[in-house]
Amino acid sequence: AKETGKARCVVYNARHSSPTDHDISLEAAMFQAVREGEFVLYYQPIVDAGTREIEGFETLMRWKHPTLGMVPPARFIPLAETNGLINLLGAWALKAACVQLRQFEEAAKRPLYISVNISPRQFRNDKFLDVLDDAIAYSGLAGEQLVLEITEGTLMIDPVHAEAILGKMAERRARIAIDDFGTGYSSLAYLKNFPISVLKIDRAFIRDLPGSQKDGAICNAVLDLAKHLSLSVVAEGVETEEQLQYMRERGCRYVQGYLTGKPMAANVAVAALREHHYA
Ligand code: C2E
Ligand code: CA
Ligand code: CA
Ligand code: CA
Repeated sequence: AKETGKARCVVYNARHSSPTDHDISLEAAMFQAVREGEFVLYYQPIVDAGTREIEGFETLMRWKHPTLGMVPPARFIPLAETNGLINLLGAWALKAACVQLRQFEEAAKRPLYISVNISPRQFRNDKFLDVLDDAIAYSGLAGEQLVLEITEGTLMIDPVHAEAILGKMAERRARIAIDDFGTGYSSLAYLKNFPISVLKIDRAFIRDLPGSQKDGAICNAVLDLAKHLSLSVVAEGVETEEQLQYMRERGCRYVQGYLTGKPMAANVAVAALREHHYA
């Protein structure tokens, strides 16, 4: 893949494969989509629960298919994970997002951070640290401005390898966030042994707040744990004012959700940062 710092993922081929007139599988379509530059990145604000200022953005991949329309990541990420294309797509996303952050900061006139999802297969790939170094060097951002979101599952597949890779990530000063915290096969021991900085509380625990006592108890326990381990917490999927206030009052510093900003194209995010409003 060339031009991986660009806004779209494009692989230049000497010969374009001819378009088929019959149904092609989603998988075949995906390889074509890479060649055609149909994958794009959207950015969702992560905001301070008190001030509602944007602190950073989560990078979310989109596939704009010419006839199928927007294909959601839930449909193509698992496929890319299976066929290995995730390594190419993920490397492109990481580099492009780091480059994009510079433009966001220019628009906001203050430092921000960028959060990027790293799939299990990407995390285990031999080339991953090279990809990370390339993204940091090419974009020129400081390591601490980069947050890498991984799931509990990613850590648990091979904890010994995971610990080594996380150590290398920490050397680069990139921060590690546990995505969908509480939904995976988890062992709290990894919070002790691994250099984790951020817990992202899954939307499943936020959705029924403030009504659900059980979800409230879980969120409180996570916030308490995070406080004592000096981790920051992001509440995911915050859709209502009540959910935001509930989490804020209990010490949750950051929120992300449709209430404070939907995933948006880069140019929309830039305009919002310039104008100071984004919901
Ligand atoms: P995720 O990492 O947990 O991302 C959060 C998902 O929640 C996103 O869905 C986002 O659009 C959605 N969301 C955010 N706020 C709200 C809200 O208030 N309400 C509701 N109902 N949903 C909200 P999206 O963009 O469809 O992505 C789904 C999943 O696909 C992501 O879940 C992540 O696991 C995966 N994914 C997306 N982009 C990438 C990528 O670049 N690389 C990898 N490896 N995975 C990605
Ligand atoms: Ca995520
Ligand atoms: Ca998540
Ligand atoms: Ca999720």
